Amino acid sequence: MERREAFYIGGEWVAPASERTIEIVSPWTETVVAEVPEANEADVDRAVAAARAAFDGGALDVGASQRADWLAAIAAGIRDRADEIASLITLEMGSPALFSNLGQVLPCHVTFDQFADLARGYAFEEERAGMLGKVLVRKVPVGVSAAIIAWNVPLFLASMKVGAALAAGSPVVLKPAPEAPLSLFVLAEICDAAGVPAGALNVVPAGREVGEYLVRHPGVDKVSFTGSTAAGRKVAAICGEQLKRCTLELGGKSAAIVLDDADLEAAVPLMLPNSTMNTGQACLAQTRILAPRSRYDEVVAAVTAGVEGMAVGDPSDMATVVGPLVAERQRKRVEGYLEVGREEGAVVATGGGRPAGLDHGWFVEPTVLRDVDNSMRIAREEIFGPVVVVIPYEDDDDAVRIANDSDYGLSGSVWTTDTDRGVAVAERIRTGTVGVNAIGTLDFGSPFGGFKASGIGRELGPEGLEEYLEYQSIIVGA
Ligand code: NAD
Repeated sequence: MERREAFYIGGEWVAPASERTIEIVSPWTETVVAEVPEANEADVDRAVAAARAAFDGGALDVGASQRADWLAAIAAGIRDRADEIASLITLEMGSPALFSNLGQVLPCHVTFDQFADLARGYAFEEERAGMLGKVLVRKVPVGVSAAIIAWNVPLFLASMKVGAALAAGSPVVLKPAPEAPLSLFVLAEICDAAGVPAGALNVVPAGREVGEYLVRHPGVDKVSFTGSTAAGRKVAAICGEQLKRCTLELGGKSAAIVLDDADLEAAVPLMLPNSTMNTGQACLAQTRILAPRSRYDEVVAAVTAGVEGMAVGDPSDMATVVGPLVAERQRKRVEGYLEVGREEGAVVATGGGRPAGLDHGWFVEPTVLRDVDNSMRIAREEIFGPVVVVIPYEDDDDAVRIANDSDYGLSGSVWTTDTDRGVAVAERIRTGTVGVNAIGTLDFGSPFGGFKASGIGRELGPEGLEEYLEYQSIIVGA
């Protein structure tokens, strides 16, 4: 049993203000496997005060190269403890072990290394010729930031925020989701060992209400939120009222477009991981597969064969591709959508139920739904499980129209034997990141984020760093 008894606040392990705890239930064994303290308002007050003291006292105002050294040390710390962290994430939220290693933990040290390099090379100050003389344009830290994250890729979501914030010189109060806080306690230990100053990172796991208290907190200057679009709207409304800076990374319903010249044998094995990674519990999952009507049955058959080949089972087994869903309520939600899909007239090409032979764990079979129209709820709403829909289209224009006919715009891909044609189609998709014949769904040095209801602002790359900076122009008269 994993047990934590203190929060990391102001560079120390601090006893919680209340007796409240969070029990973490393994999605695989359905038993309690960990317990951590649950922060209340008083804990958040202390965390914000510690971050404020770090900021107002200039603890991070030490030059970008010193901050870069801390970031590189954090990256090294994560690399050193990669196996342990991956196992914790598998334990708490059921991410299959291979994905925990390659999709959950590896991106974290890459991200901290990227922000270390960025901090070293970034022009935090520049001089411009102004009307009255010279103008000093400074990019200064935004102040205290609140980082609120979802449970599905906990450490990576935190790394994108903490990496950028520390590179900028902005202390962080990090609120992990109650389902998956364990790796964030390890991050606190790693930051501590890396010599990050007291108050620069504070970790207080809690639920929604306390999350909202943190968003409203007068000591917080900026909120970076990753979670559902519904919660993102609430966070944005509070930030709007208070004129607080805010970055939102929200839901998605991304399209993978198979063009009519695609080589399915080559494309489908690369495409499917983009759709079903983390058991489909990924904001950027490409869950709408768009297939040319002329090759519709062929695409459905290839996708179905690929999905039927996915090993389902124990998430700690490196061979597992599809594990259990995070919680029983999440399985209910996914099963509810399967029901809706049937009522809407979709046909189950494979899956659609619970896998045979597994008597515990919140599993849903990896599922392909065919004969789907883009107006159906299963094509419009985020299911957040191992379910893909295959939608027919007439020609490239129609494919672009369908891909863009979505409230969301986070990710996407185009599959073709003609790269130039693929890039031309990609340019027409209103989405934040789109791959052309690419297994990856984001690039660690390039902006990641959403169009439309998928969010506001960007993470990663210089654009991600700039979300934690304010611009100041000092006009120096003659
Ligand atoms: P959620 O919105 O319920 O919760 C996310 C986090 O926000 C949790 O820490 C939660 O405690 C907190 N929270 C919820 N309501 C809040 C409020 N009103 N004020 C402050 N904090 C609040 O989302 P979830 O179910 O945990 O995560 C799944 C969702 O996250 C999916 O929609 C997924 O697409 C999205 N997501 C997006 C990205 C991205 O980068 N765009 C990445 C991962 C997940």
